[in-house]
Amino acid sequence: MDDVSPLLDDLNPAQREAVSAPLGNMLVLAGAGSGKTRVLVHRIAWLLQVEQLSPYAILAVTFTNKAAREMRTRLEALLGLSLRNMWVGTFHSIAHRLLRTHWQDARLPQHFQIIDSDDQLRLVKRLLKDHHIDDERYPPRQVQYFISGCKEEGLRPQQVQTHGDVYLGQMVELYEHYQLTCERGGLVDFGELLLRSLELLRDNPRLLAHYRERFAHLLVDEFQDTNTLQYAWLKLLAGDRAGMTVVGDDDQSIYGWRGARVENIRRFEQEFAGTRTVRLEQNYRSTSAILDAANALIDHNAGRMGKELWTAGAKGEPISVYAGFNDLDEARFIVDTIGERVSEGHTRREIAILYRSNAQSRVLEETLIRQGVPYRIYGGQRFYERLEIKNALAYSRLLLNREDDASLERVINVPARGIGTRTVEILRDRARLSNVSLWQALHDSLSDGSLKGRAANAVQAFANLIERLDNDTAGMALHEIIAHVNEASGLIEHHRSEKGEKGQARVENLEELVNAARAFTQGSAFDDQEAGEGVAALGLFLSEAALNAGDHEADEFEDCVQLMTLHSAKGLEFPVVFIAGVEEGLFPHKMSMEEPGRLEEERRLCYVGVTRAMRKLYLSYAELRRLHGKETFQRPSRFLRELPEELLEEVRLRGQISRPMTAARPTRGLSMQTSVSPGNDAPSLALGQRVSHPLFGEGVILNAEGEGERARVQVSFEDEGDKWLVLGFAKLTPL
Ligand code: ATP
Ligand code: MG
Repeated sequence: MDDVSPLLDDLNPAQREAVSAPLGNMLVLAGAGSGKTRVLVHRIAWLLQVEQLSPYAILAVTFTNKAAREMRTRLEALLGLSLRNMWVGTFHSIAHRLLRTHWQDARLPQHFQIIDSDDQLRLVKRLLKDHHIDDERYPPRQVQYFISGCKEEGLRPQQVQTHGDVYLGQMVELYEHYQLTCERGGLVDFGELLLRSLELLRDNPRLLAHYRERFAHLLVDEFQDTNTLQYAWLKLLAGDRAGMTVVGDDDQSIYGWRGARVENIRRFEQEFAGTRTVRLEQNYRSTSAILDAANALIDHNAGRMGKELWTAGAKGEPISVYAGFNDLDEARFIVDTIGERVSEGHTRREIAILYRSNAQSRVLEETLIRQGVPYRIYGGQRFYERLEIKNALAYSRLLLNREDDASLERVINVPARGIGTRTVEILRDRARLSNVSLWQALHDSLSDGSLKGRAANAVQAFANLIERLDNDTAGMALHEIIAHVNEASGLIEHHRSEKGEKGQARVENLEELVNAARAFTQGSAFDDQEAGEGVAALGLFLSEAALNAGDHEADEFEDCVQLMTLHSAKGLEFPVVFIAGVEEGLFPHKMSMEEPGRLEEERRLCYVGVTRAMRKLYLSYAELRRLHGKETFQRPSRFLRELPEELLEEVRLRGQISRPMTAARPTRGLSMQTSVSPGNDAPSLALGQRVSHPLFGEGVILNAEGEGERARVQVSFEDEGDKWLVLGFAKLTPL
């Protein structure tokens, strides 16, 4: 086996056993950073090189498209061959590929389009309106959640048991309407991708036999987060043959709220015959301080499958805990510390800031911007989710498919062309009554004269525009189509005339879309034979855009600090990690505090966060935080208390460090870094300080900015609320 040794060289004995196990079913169950993903990659290489499987016979499921690309690149490097036609991707992208190939068998139009959860919500809102259903009783998000939930359980409307429940009955009816609208418009949501492809295989025995024969081996990363539908899909594809490698960690199951079933990993051994289970126990990622903290934390969960995890690595630095006076102070601490770390030689991309809720990013972002630190939000407002991009893509979608109601509604009056909401409502009613698309309703209303005057002219102009765009772009290359649509639709002009930087940024984004289209045809993302020309390419590009919007992309080129939610940090690692907002109610999230099951999931999420760190971990919380528009006093998270004290050190400002801290008792961080002084003789004030004002009474200083004469402070007055005051003028007396 000498010639294969490079594949096994940099692996420990347990990893080797997993990589070189005979074909058959295998579960690799192991804690964070123990090399599961690495084993998966090497296993594929082994299957190709030693077991002589063709790349064509491998199906590998990863958690993000980015992870899929990385996996492919690493394999190509290991093996020195091109693996372009190997199927590696997320469940969604693989399902999409199946549906694209077999659109007729799947009863879909050739250029069906993927809608993301935003489009889905919009569609639900419209349905509620069309059917005059009270959106207080049936909140759109809940309806959306219901529909997705059904699909994740593999249920079509007729299969949902309502047991005569009226509320549930209404939900099911909405699901039915929703489904009809999607069918008519050739729209496919994320859940539908999976369900449809499952049905495709289930209902076409010949196809199923073909794929079962073709895929000799299935491999799945992050198996603990598969949901019922994904599990069923894998099981169907696997059939009776034993040929599946799954890797996962029950302690990192963090998508229960979205239907993931940690039982899937627990029952794998029983359900898949002859499963070999391999445990990996050595962690190669983190210092022992970090790993010990993670182990102690997760030990508070009951019912774990139980795993050992140790590291041969050094103890490393203790975990730093910072108590910010408020969220702004917390952000300042983080950004200042990043500055220090960078000046010590870390690159920015080695540093990540993780948080529980997306909304936390704003303050962090503003602080980063103010201090000129480049950053990237990984999985936040993503390029393809931005308004202007969605509008541009909606025009393109209409070129492919006039029946796409969601797109039509999105752009019928963007840029404004005098089509009012009233007119749109008339069209919508008509569409509903005659059970046709909006586009059809629009034409019917024009031809029978039910739209008149200005409204008719405006609608006619819109219809002409779409037809003209279609004609003009015939024969163009993909990026030319996009560029033409941007201009001729009036979108560029529209944003150019917007005031300020926002409009400028939107124009730049639209231009960037043309670049994206160009890069797309140059074939980075798809197989050569699939990319095609013009309209076909446009269809693929739009699908890719929708898939990307659901993904977590980061630009690999600029050296940026990485910001992301704890959820999107799964599977990644960074030398330096900050976890912000470690507070009761925020993390653990208050929605999960009542239910023990949900609380354990929060703890697993914390475990995921802690184990992202390789060398240094910072945890921070704010004692006062602006949440939902009001200041709230916060308590440090119970998770802090669950970490062994001897591994922690409390960070005080001005470089003071003391240890150990008692996380149970909030220390009031009055030794604030930011003290402001109006200059000369006036007293210098610190954040958190109590002051009194002749007019407004007593209050606390929340915020400060500027220096000297221009220094301002924000004071929260007991009776008067929050006010910004210029220190030079306001007569504030420290108390
Ligand atoms: P997670 O649970 O977070 O997904 P994982 O179990 O998938 O983690 P990997 O990401 O595969 O772990 O590996 C963690 C780190 O350890 C990586 O940097 C990887 O390159 C390194 N590593 C894994 N195995 C070895 C080994 N045998 N020798 C040296 N480094 C290793
Ligand atoms: Mg991994």
